[in-house]
Amino acid sequence: MKVFKFGGASVKDANGVKNVCGIISSTPENLVVVVSAMGKTTNAFERILNAYLDDKQEILQAEVKALKKYHEEIISNLFENPAQPLFEMEATFEGLLYFLSINTKRDYDFCYDQVVSVGELISTKIVASYLATQNVNAEWIDVRTILRTDSTYRDANVDFDKSAELFKNQIDFSKTQVYLTQGFIGANHKGFSTTLGREGSDYTAAIIANLLNGESVTIWKDVPGVLNADPRIFNETVHLPSVSYKQAIELAFFGAQIIHPKTIKPLQNKGIPLYVKSFVEPSAVGTEVAASISKIDAVPVYILKQQQVLISVEPKDYSFALEDSWIKLFTIMQKHRLKTNLVQNSAISISICVDGNNHYLNDALEEMMNSFRVKYNENLSLLTIQNYNEQILENYSCNKEVLLMQKSRRTARILYK
Ligand code: ASP
Ligand code: MG
Repeated sequence: MKVFKFGGASVKDANGVKNVCGIISSTPENLVVVVSAMGKTTNAFERILNAYLDDKQEILQAEVKALKKYHEEIISNLFENPAQPLFEMEATFEGLLYFLSINTKRDYDFCYDQVVSVGELISTKIVASYLATQNVNAEWIDVRTILRTDSTYRDANVDFDKSAELFKNQIDFSKTQVYLTQGFIGANHKGFSTTLGREGSDYTAAIIANLLNGESVTIWKDVPGVLNADPRIFNETVHLPSVSYKQAIELAFFGAQIIHPKTIKPLQNKGIPLYVKSFVEPSAVGTEVAASISKIDAVPVYILKQQQVLISVEPKDYSFALEDSWIKLFTIMQKHRLKTNLVQNSAISISICVDGNNHYLNDALEEMMNSFRVKYNENLSLLTIQNYNEQILENYSCNKEVLLMQKSRRTARILYK
């Protein structure tokens, strides 16, 4: 079997859904298809969640209305007879609103997963209904019945053993050729929804391939494969036909938004290749990510991470920032789920660069201030250049207020305003 993953951009409107279904129906193999929420639906659900937690009823109702309308339009453009898919979509929203009306646990992470997971449920129901009209025998699965996680809401850890057992009971290719399910979401042992982190559908696809010993995973995107730079930011990009697992992990870690960082491990562990292909041009070659692939050393690769914050902490009594300070700092970081993008130390300070959009950043800063003198700089950009040379570095650092620069033999990182 193979796993296909279609992200939000591929199903952002009715034509997108038709195109996705065309790719599925022209694939003659056993498939598990993983689909994300449509377009920017997850962002809209984040706004619904905030309105709920802030008790802003009007905003909540308006956001729900707009989101329903968005899905209604897609449905009415897809189906001659839209009554059933419309009813299912409405019912899913009603279920959410009912849950919110009786919920008493106002923990942000818990509520986040109960609310945001609805986007994937709706999108997959619509895609499944449309596939049925195209005579594709696809079975819709609520992935929460088979993908078991712990209760780390918003960044859940998958229980691979339990999930393997559940998958085995549900998936039988002698009965059905195509299974269609949600990316990004799972459930804990109590049956509550959990999520795997933003953009986590790639990871879901990799988990499923791992659990079912898949032949390959294909991530269908709006770009022709892995490029050496984000075409929305850099002008001249080069297509990379093949990338090793290690290079892919590095690209994802440095912030290339092409693959979710957790995707590679489940694939690498079982030697399953990953293909990144264009849903706009399905027959084009794309990129292969696999074990031993010739090096791309010659091509400089540019990865830009925006909205970065550089935090510098110093022990309050002017003592050296030694190991006990590291332990204290990283314990706070772990508690508040800050992920380190870059670290630099000096005699009396430790500097870390983290994502500025972290929900718990202010809580973390506050706690750091109890133990350290803390300074921070917001709205920074972190540019990582692999296979750099001095000329490239000069080009990218001149005219910029550079706060920090790190270089190894192959990789340079520039943090600037
Ligand atoms: N819908 C989720 C998100 O937008 C998951 C995904 O697209 O992979 O983050
Ligand atoms: Mg997405």
